[in-house]
Formats: sequence, C-alpha cells, structure tokens
Amino acid sequence: MTASEIRALFAVASRPEVVSLAGGMPHLAALPLDSLSAEVADVVATDGLVALQYGSAQGIPELREQICEVMALEGINAHPDDVVVTVGSQMGLDMVTRIFCDPGDVVLAEGPSYVGALGSFSAYQANVVHVAMDADGLVPEALREAIAAVARAGQRVKFLYTIPNFHNPAGVTLAVQRRAEVLQICREHGILVVEDNPYGLLGFDGVTYPALRSTDPDNVVYLGSFSKTFAAGLRVGWVLAPHAVREKLVLAAESATLCPPTFNQLVVSRYLSTHDWKGQIKTYREAYRERRDAAIEALEQHMPLGSTWNKPNGGFYVWLTVPEGIDTKAMLPRAITQRVAYASGTGFYADGLGSRQLRISYCYPTPERIREGVRRLANVIKDELEL
Ligand code: PMP
Repeated sequence: MTASEIRALFAVASRPEVVSLAGGMPHLAALPLDSLSAEVADVVATDGLVALQYGSAQGIPELREQICEVMALEGINAHPDDVVVTVGSQMGLDMVTRIFCDPGDVVLAEGPSYVGALGSFSAYQANVVHVAMDADGLVPEALREAIAAVARAGQRVKFLYTIPNFHNPAGVTLAVQRRAEVLQICREHGILVVEDNPYGLLGFDGVTYPALRSTDPDNVVYLGSFSKTFAAGLRVGWVLAPHAVREKLVLAAESATLCPPTFNQLVVSRYLSTHDWKGQIKTYREAYRERRDAAIEALEQHMPLGSTWNKPNGGFYVWLTVPEGIDTKAMLPRAITQRVAYASGTGFYADGLGSRQLRISYCYPTPERIREGVRRLANVIKDELEL
C-alpha cells in the first residue's frame, strides 16, 4: 500500500489562503440542514433502539428497497435481495477486489482512473492494465487490444473497472452507442464488468444515461453511492451484484465491518422518504453546472497556448493537459506557494503516465474562488514555461 498523493495534499490544500482545486469534496452548503437536523433527531426519538443497535451485514431492508428506486432512474430493474449496503462505494471497491483478485491478477481500467480504485487494486496486488479513452469514453477497440495483450502475456483479466458517467478524473461519459459494444466484448471474453457510478445523476443537461447494469444484469457488478447526491460524511453506498457475487460480498462485508452503520442507513432512508431528494439532486446539479462554467470560462481566458482540456457535461472534474515540458507533480509545490492546489496526473495512472496532466475539481469552491484559482494556476504554468 502506498499513500495517495491526493490525501497527502489535503492538509496544505485546506489552508484558507489556498484555493483548492484538488479534492472532490461535495458542495454540502446546498443541503437543507435545518430540516435534516429535525429528521436526525426524530430517527433517535422514534427508532433509537434499532438505529443504535447492530444490524444485518447486508444493510437494512427498507433502505435496500429505496436504493432500487434510485437505480430505476438509470433503467436498472433490481431486487433488494441483490443489494448490499456498504460504507461508501469505496468499501464496495475494496470488497469486490478482495473477492476477485489474487496477487498478479489483471484488472482493466480506463487510463486515467479513480485514485481510490487504483489504491484498492494495488492493496490486493492486482496489476492494472489501462485502456484508452477519448471524448466518448472508453474506446472499444482499445479494450479488445488490451484483452488480447493480456492473453498473449499468459495472464488473466479478472474484471473491467469502469466509470461510465462523468468520469473521475477525465470528465468524459461513455457514449450510449458504445455501451452495448463494451458489454459485448466483455461477455465474449468472460470478463466481469465493475461499473462505478457515483456521478450518474449529476448530468448538467438533465440527461440520465442507461447504466451498463440495466442491459447486462448477469455480468455487471454495480457500485452506487449517496456521497455525491446526498451526504458524503454518512458513508452510505451500495453494491448491486449477481446472486453468487452478492453472497460473497455479504461474507466479505461481515468480516470487514459486521454491518454498515444502522443509524446512518436510517438517516438516509428517512431522508429519501421525507425529502424531495430528486429536487435536491437538481439543486446540486445547478450548483455544479455554475461552477463548471466558471472553471471553463477561466481556463479559456487565462490558460497559455498548448494547454487543452475537456468540458464535462456532469460530475466534478476537468482534466487538463499542460504545455509540453511541464511536469505537473514537480510544479505542485510551486503552485501551492502561489496559493492554488490541484491533483497531479500521475496519481491517476498505475503505470507512471500522466506527468503532463492534472485534475481540477470545481465541486467545492465558490465560482469566484474557482476563477481566482484557475487564474493563479495559469500564472504558475506561464512561469514554468519561462523557467
Ligand atoms: N468512485 C469514484 C469514481 C469516486 O469519485 C469516488 C469518490 N471520490 C468513489 C468511488 C468513492 O465514493 P464514496 O464516498 O461512496 O466511498
């Protein structure tokens, strides 16, 4: 196990004078805290003896039913028996890796990919083989080539890990017409798909894409989370898995935590039944779209020639390529001196790539701070070019 570059940054990046474009912290100020605190108190008053007690390792039944309603928004038809509640989807990632991967097994993942997933894969000594993306997400031809290359090396692919919607960190979305092809390729080769989808409901055009799980229930393990659509600190996520996998997940969850926190599950369940949670997601979407616009406008205004970036249609992240000759990891201490932080690109690859890339998160700072942060970042890059 190695320290995540991003976690290490948290302490410096959270100093008030630094504009942090580094972490992916949700914009919780958009939550109705007054009414939530009343609900939380009511959970203790009416359900306290359940809320504060051990519960089932799989999660409380009423929440698992509600989770199925949430997933229905993405075309998923699931039974609550196949849902396992987890301590955030990060725990789902850890358990899926624990179940499937022996040291030396291969996991396919987009390049770049989510730092926390790469951390789980490396903790279980799985080898990551990256698959290229373009503006339409994972490239099916690159997937075929990666599978063939792994087979030629005499190794075994355990699963494809993919973030189809509003990718972390690349910001892109897998085109709808590619989804069937990706599923078909994985089926042909007997490769399980692990679909990680914490941002799917945060599309800025109000479009919700069909989950991979919706068309291939037997070959997709789906990871979901309330971290971005409600509250990250409650640490409530879930895994929806084919039957046999689900049974192993419950065993793995039991040995890891005995059960997910009952109190937190009841708070989420209460929130889903009494609040306009779809309206809250819309509020989040609008806040993030405004922040995305601030980031993109500032990039267009300030970035020097030779820098490129994408314009995400949802989620939290812009992926930036800086002019040739700049190493974003080496530049980071100088950026922090100039009071701006970002996540450098190499942390998102298992193979050392990404030194010319960086990730900007626009989810947390206000639009004004984002504009100022991007302006500072552009100045740091311009200074580097003159070094
Ligand atoms: N997957 C992805 C792609 C993420 O971006 C994150 C959070 N940054 C997670 C999983 C973990 O989320 P959770 O809070 O549900 O553990």
